[in-house]
This record gives sequence, structure tokens and C-alpha cells, in this order.
Amino acid sequence: MTDVVTEGGCLCGAIRYHVHGQPTHSMICHCRTCRKAAGSPVVAWLTFPLDRFSFVRGVPAEFRSSPPVVRTFCPACGTPLTYIHVESPAEIDVTTCTLDDPVAFPPTHHSWVSHDPGWLRFNDGLLAHSTTSEYS
Ligand SMILES: [Zn+2]
Ligand SMILES: [Zn+2]
Repeated sequence: MTDVVTEGGCLCGAIRYHVHGQPTHSMICHCRTCRKAAGSPVVAWLTFPLDRFSFVRGVPAEFRSSPPVVRTFCPACGTPLTYIHVESPAEIDVTTCTLDDPVAFPPTHHSWVSHDPGWLRFNDGLLAHSTTSEYS
């Protein structure tokens, strides 16, 4: 089933993408950079091999949220779309909630919950790592 195509895009429809197959990771990031970049308490992310992702309509805008990280977003409506880290150039993270069907790949854990504002509460039973799943 690795050739199943899943479609997604931004709020206004200017940017559309396809991903092929299953993500290698599905998580909810609580880090303060994602929070600020999205204007949202958390951002859910899917990780795919870069060669399984393609933009099929429009050209996203991009910016570096830190020296090793390039994030893209729709230049018309601002929807955050992707994240690539220079140390993992063969992988791309895609915002889960820009999928046409955000239920397709449910998250397995939370990361960076140590960055949460005090009022944020989750009670979904998923693992919650204080930083990344790699280090905590
Ligand atoms: Zn848009
Ligand atoms: Zn983050």
C-alpha cells in the first residue's frame, strides 16, 4: 500500500501537495517555535521521506525559523505547510491538519511539552515527551 496517494493543501487552495504511502512518524509538537510559527498552542506533524512528497499546485513561500530549519507556508493565506532540518535533508515534515483527511495518520506522541503555556491540557493518553522523542 506504499503507493497510496494522500492529498493536502493550504486553507485557500493556492498550494496543493501529494504524499505517497505511510508517514514514518506522526506527532504533536509543543515547541515554542512551532507555536509561534503557527500562532497555535501545538502543531501536529507527519514525517515522510522527501522523495514521497511533492507540491502539485502553487509555489510555497519559505523562511528559516532557525539556521538549520526551513519552513514553508502559503504566500496567499499563510497556512504552515512543511519543515525540513538541514541534518535530515532526506525527510520532510508536513502539517497533519493540512491533509484533506486529517484523520488519516493519527499521532502517536507529544513532543516538547516542557514548552507548554501553563493553561494547556491534553488528556488523550498518548506518550508525552518533555523534549523530543529521541532524547526523553
Ligand atoms: Zn493558501
Ligand atoms: Zn516544534
